[in-house]
Amino acid sequence: MNFDELGLSQKVLEAVRASGYETPTPIQAQAIPHALAGRDVLGIAQTGTGKTAAFTLPMISRLEQGRARARMPRTLILEPTRELAAQVEEAFVRYGVNHKINVALLIGGVSFGDQEAKITRGADVLIATPGRLLDFADRGKILLTGIEVLVIDEADRMLDMGFIPDIERICKLVPFTRQTLFFSATMPPEITRLTEQFLQNPVRVEVSRPASTATAITQTLVKTGVSPEEKRATLRRVIRGAENFKNAIVFSNRKRDVQVVYRSLEKHGFSVGALHGDLDQRARMAALDAFRNGTVQLLVCSDVAARGLDIPDVSHVINYDAPHHAEDYVHRIGRTGRAGKAGVAITLATRLDAKNIDAIEKLIARKIDWAPGEAEAADDAPEEKRPEQRSRGRSAAGREPRREEERREPRREEERRERPAPRSRRPEAPATAAAPAPRRRQREDLDDAPVVGLGDHVPSFLLRPTRLPRVTAD
Ligand code: AMP
Repeated sequence: MNFDELGLSQKVLEAVRASGYETPTPIQAQAIPHALAGRDVLGIAQTGTGKTAAFTLPMISRLEQGRARARMPRTLILEPTRELAAQVEEAFVRYGVNHKINVALLIGGVSFGDQEAKITRGADVLIATPGRLLDFADRGKILLTGIEVLVIDEADRMLDMGFIPDIERICKLVPFTRQTLFFSATMPPEITRLTEQFLQNPVRVEVSRPASTATAITQTLVKTGVSPEEKRATLRRVIRGAENFKNAIVFSNRKRDVQVVYRSLEKHGFSVGALHGDLDQRARMAALDAFRNGTVQLLVCSDVAARGLDIPDVSHVINYDAPHHAEDYVHRIGRTGRAGKAGVAITLATRLDAKNIDAIEKLIARKIDWAPGEAEAADDAPEEKRPEQRSRGRSAAGREPRREEERREPRREEERRERPAPRSRRPEAPATAAAPAPRRRQREDLDDAPVVGLGDHVPSFLLRPTRLPRVTAD
């Protein structure tokens, strides 16, 4: 199929040609004609499939008719993170070169004033993270009653981040008659419920992950000691010894470790940047740009910051920490091996990671081999942690139970922090049966929570129950 067969306008087709695309990807071929016909679309697709163009191209065609009014954007795209929002903005710049489209970005970490000025002038396209958008709406700075097309992107990610109550509120603020384009990589029950509530007779379009992601990535484990010093030394060894190395994204489970690993690599003379939620927006974009354009070779990231980012040419992904959640592994390694290129994913594995690695192997339905020379070294590991003795069948259910505060904390700290104090406190959506608790906790939130006492580092002797001397009443 060709792009000209999809029903896009001539000006959009010219922009597509200028982008160098020859044929539409499956999600584009299937979704664009329906989107142009005004149908609601439920797209089950992940980043890398071309889904951004699948919604931006028909939106631009549609925006050719009509004009934006002050404070009343015509279309709204919801993204879970600032980086993804910025990435979609870039797509509008690229595909909208032949149009005069006013795009406004409503994300945290950027001054309210500039954003407000853009919205006041009138935006054709508003790209927003849910928290900042609701702040604007609650302050009466924006009216969503003119929205013709609503895009909800990365819905399962929104769920992970506790944004579903916000999405529900936003869906109620936009007109009932709007068109909704909804994208999610997976369809857990909470997301299905959301689509049943807010989509009208949608066309369901499902595409598999790009084949290159699964097949072109060499995945290995590298044994390391548990201490941060040992892990950092192993990381340096891995980077220095990596074959066909061009650049690498290094994933850490915690924000504070991102910073520590980043500083350590910098100290050891590596060309490195960092990306995590504590950095202000400018620093985040600068780090990303530096990595994209090759100014730095390494980017140390947390999962939230890096999810869904489109960085086309990453030779290596290194998991400084084995992720606690198997799905994160899939998302992480999907940063390499893109666009048909070969990729390498290396995971540092301590003797404490056996359970996480079992869960990953179960999810990806394959065993991850030890890097050459590593298996022998791993024989030194304590008895039950030896790699070959790891139970292959242990289920992901064997994970640590969620901590109480994790269940209680639905919203990502990063997003909450990025909001300025509201004039009047916005009531949180009630936790009713219709708004289930988020599927899983936010480890980044935990990471940012103020540490009480010694935090996780309480020496075990202090945790032993104290035996008090028996006092007899006399
Ligand atoms: P996305 O899934 O939207 O993040 O897109 C992934 C990458 O595919 C981006 O770098 C796009 O520029 C690229 N892309 C999107 N559509 C096409 C196409 N039809 N042909 C080639 N590349 C594309």
